[in-house]
Amino acid sequence: MPELPEVETIVRGLRPRLCGRTIKSIQLLGRPSFRGEVPLFLTSIKNQPVLSVLRHGKTILLNMPGNTLSIHLGMTGQLLWSHTNHPVEPHTHVLFSLSSIDDQSYQQLRYRDIRRFGRLKLLDKQKTSNRVPDAWECSIDEMFAALRPRNARLKHALLSQKYIAGLGNIYVDESLFSAGLHPASSISHVGDKRLRRLCEEIKQVLKTSINLGGTSFRNYVDVHGGRGGFKGLLSIYGKAGRPCPRCGATIEKIFLAGRGTHFCSHCQRMSSLPRRTDIGNNLGKVKGK
Ligand SMILES: [Zn+2]
Repeated sequence: MPELPEVETIVRGLRPRLCGRTIKSIQLLGRPSFRGEVPLFLTSIKNQPVLSVLRHGKTILLNMPGNTLSIHLGMTGQLLWSHTNHPVEPHTHVLFSLSSIDDQSYQQLRYRDIRRFGRLKLLDKQKTSNRVPDAWECSIDEMFAALRPRNARLKHALLSQKYIAGLGNIYVDESLFSAGLHPASSISHVGDKRLRRLCEEIKQVLKTSINLGGTSFRNYVDVHGGRGGFKGLLSIYGKAGRPCPRCGATIEKIFLAGRGTHFCSHCQRMSSLPRRTDIGNNLGKVKGK
């Protein structure tokens, strides 16, 4: 599933191509994966210029004067920039034809999705503002503040999209490994210093992956069909049974939050004690670690 670095890579590819162009036609092929009424959808965005292309979490937002088109790629969604005369690949569901004022040649944005878990929908302007912090756009302080009050296990909290938007299985496993935190630890048992370190590691992992165009396992490609380069830098994700790159112990895989979770039980010890509080008069009552 494309996560934040992959979606950011797609958005960076789309932005210079879409902004300033107008959606001249929308053609549906097969069953559309729209939420909402399809005819309304089509008439609402036809002849609308694209003003900006943004991302929040794993969602792509195409802003037009009247609406915002939200695209979530699900597990296998792809957005491909193509000339209109290029053959259409199988599993392509929507063709957006666009033209610009100075360049009358049409180009197409093609939405392709083999497993059809992706979704396109129109958003009201008002509904696009209320957001949980985006893992890439927010500051480390904002991320820390969003996570600190939670009691959930780390893996659940980071995947849920309720507190921080954009992280998925790959980058959660990688960040927890970098921070030396067990994925099943409860946030309430992780001290402030270690939780802040996790926030820093999340930022670093995302930065490295975005710089390399994301991680490609099966379906993820950028707008030109190119693959991301981060896979070769994965420390732990997808490496169950292989030696930990830090200590040599065998990497384990368990299921948490319904997802295969990779970790090293030597480098990532469970935080099982109540965290040490920062309030001085409680020190001594609470044994922290
Ligand atoms: Zn290890």
